[in-house]
Amino acid sequence: MQFLTRNVLKRFTNVPFLSFSSKKDLYELLGVPRNASQNDIKKAYYGLAKKYHPDANPSKDAKEKFAEINNAYETLSDDNKRKVYDQVGMTGDEQDQAGAQDPFAAYSSFFRQGARGGKAQDFQFDESIFGDFASFFNMGGESERQIKGADIFIQLEISFMDSVNGAQQTIQFEKIGVCSTCNGTKCKPGTAPGRCTNCGGRGSINYRQGAMTIQMACTKCRGTGVSIKNPCTTCKGAGIQKQATSEAVNIPKGIADGQNLRVTGKGNVGENGGKAGDLIIKVQVKPDSYYKRDGYDLITNAYISVAQAVLGDQVKIKTLNGEQQISIKPGSQDGEKIRLSGLGITKLAPNSNQRGDQVVNLKIQIPTKLTEQQKQLFEELAKLEKGETQGQSSAHEGVFEKVKNIFHK
Ligand SMILES: [Zn+2]
Ligand SMILES: [Zn+2]
Repeated sequence: MQFLTRNVLKRFTNVPFLSFSSKKDLYELLGVPRNASQNDIKKAYYGLAKKYHPDANPSKDAKEKFAEINNAYETLSDDNKRKVYDQVGMTGDEQDQAGAQDPFAAYSSFFRQGARGGKAQDFQFDESIFGDFASFFNMGGESERQIKGADIFIQLEISFMDSVNGAQQTIQFEKIGVCSTCNGTKCKPGTAPGRCTNCGGRGSINYRQGAMTIQMACTKCRGTGVSIKNPCTTCKGAGIQKQATSEAVNIPKGIADGQNLRVTGKGNVGENGGKAGDLIIKVQVKPDSYYKRDGYDLITNAYISVAQAVLGDQVKIKTLNGEQQISIKPGSQDGEKIRLSGLGITKLAPNSNQRGDQVVNLKIQIPTKLTEQQKQLFEELAKLEKGETQGQSSAHEGVFEKVKNIFHK
């Protein structure tokens, strides 16, 4: 399991903003068994969300954990998404991405379902959870929350050599960014937002409950204190819009097929000052005809003749460091392996100063077509093998030498 923090990566590679993540098991994240009921999932989520909500938990990891829990819940609370996840391991976000659904639909985050065309069945539950949070944190249920932008998942196919040597690629994709017409102000250009008449611009309203005064976010302006009289027509007052974008991505040496590259903050833009999501690139490595990969080792084949296997030889092998001469020892067997230490793949950070090995599999080629001379020699050899007990060792060597000269490639 590879999980590297940004700092580690910054220290050990020249790649800014990159980190790797491998998928965590969603059931594990919520701490429920795979056969958990929806009720168990809901309970587990509620407990964890309370614990890790950034408002309640100031620790550095809480935000990330909170996002992970929400993602897990989003997938597992939806029976269809859960089914797909159980079968192929795709999270809800990835399913949405794969289904090329309207990114605006995927964008609605957990606490905003329904606000912009979210699903009705989620709406009820989300609101109830939200309400619980509201009382827990003594905040209004309607306040405009900082919402982290959704992560964007993209598949990128690279060549085997790029995976080994590293590369820089520019990736084109669509994301939800700040509206270019209103610059995110949500107002029609030339107009300004007015003060909310309900709360007088304070964003909150005080309610008396017995001896206590409870401050709630204004329901009309959702806590912003402003009212937009002339919404931007491009984004319909959302302040955000779908846009084509491109990102230069450094592919680090050693990345393997199926691994994810996470480019922090390059996903969909957040709402109300929330952090942007991440761009998550699932790397697919095209196979190479010569090199195969096993961990950080490179597996290659060396084809040698019968004579080379029997008598030994020096052969040249293609390696990442150029051609290398290796010794085939006399009596080498088909499938025997020769390990070339340190000629494998450069490891990912934080071990990027280490390399795997190249493992050369010897493949002995048995000739299928023989010249007359070759045939005679093999027949001579066969005769010798039958008469070996008579101890004609010098004649034996003579035949081997001839064999070598004829079959040597
Ligand atoms: Zn706009
Ligand atoms: Zn208001």
